[in-house]
Amino acid sequence: MTGTAADLAALLSEARHAIVLTGAGVSTESGIPDFRSAGGLWEEYDPMEVASMRTFMNDPQRFWRFHRPRIDMLASVAPNAAHRAIAELQRRGVLHELITQNIDRLHARAGSEDAIEVHGSLDRGVCLRCDHGVPIDELVALADAAADGVPRCAACGFQMKSGVILFGEMLPDVAINAAYAAAHAADVMLVIGSSLLVAPVSGLPGIVVGGGGRLAILTESETPWDDRCTVRLHGRAGEVMAETLEILTSG
Ligand code: NAD
Repeated sequence: MTGTAADLAALLSEARHAIVLTGAGVSTESGIPDFRSAGGLWEEYDPMEVASMRTFMNDPQRFWRFHRPRIDMLASVAPNAAHRAIAELQRRGVLHELITQNIDRLHARAGSEDAIEVHGSLDRGVCLRCDHGVPIDELVALADAAADGVPRCAACGFQMKSGVILFGEMLPDVAINAAYAAAHAADVMLVIGSSLLVAPVSGLPGIVVGGGGRLAILTESETPWDDRCTVRLHGRAGEVMAETLEILTSG
């Protein structure tokens, strides 16, 4: 099944309550690699090993050697046309809730400030022992001040982590509940740049379809939901979303 930006625009304009779910593929055009595509993070590292609670607890120096460049990279990337189109469609009321697996803050920087971040976010640091929280700039300053590059809590001295949820860590209840509530309220879900292989997000399309809603999927690779969607687009997220916005603006 294939579709065009015009098909997507028609689906969105007919919707009563359209929501959008994004994954790493919405940020690759900003220069942030995804996990599973060629050149993605899994070719270089096993994130399940290095971005895990086990490594954070047992070898915080190794964890921070992997994690720190990812924080620093955010200074040199910017939202792309897909992030901007989503924010504009939310502003116009065409799209409602935005659920994202991304931790890169690019949706917020494009204007989608209320994104439901199911895997946490790189906007802060937190101490897992005493719950002390700091903004991301302070977390980076603490890492810079440490000889081993591991930021430590000013309140209790324990190693700090960022707000990104690690493999082996509980997902944030509030965000997960909000994501499920949005899926239950939706009659259309647009998925952009996610392989839909990672739980709990992999279960959200089923809620929408099970409730009689329709799916649109815009990713380069296949997903397990491809044969159950109404519109299937294989283009680049930025190009297709810019075109969809243009059609909705002129039509
Ligand atoms: P994924 O790597 O499993 O899937 C990405 C999907 O996007 C693939 O289908 C790929 O073909 C597609 N894609 C890549 N570039 C695209 C483009 N320009 N246009 C359209 N499609 C494109 O990523 P996922 O589904 O988000 O799930 C895995 C995990 O990746 C999540 O846990 C997420 O937290 C994490 N992650 C986040 C970031 C980020 O914050 N930017 C980066 C890497 C990984």
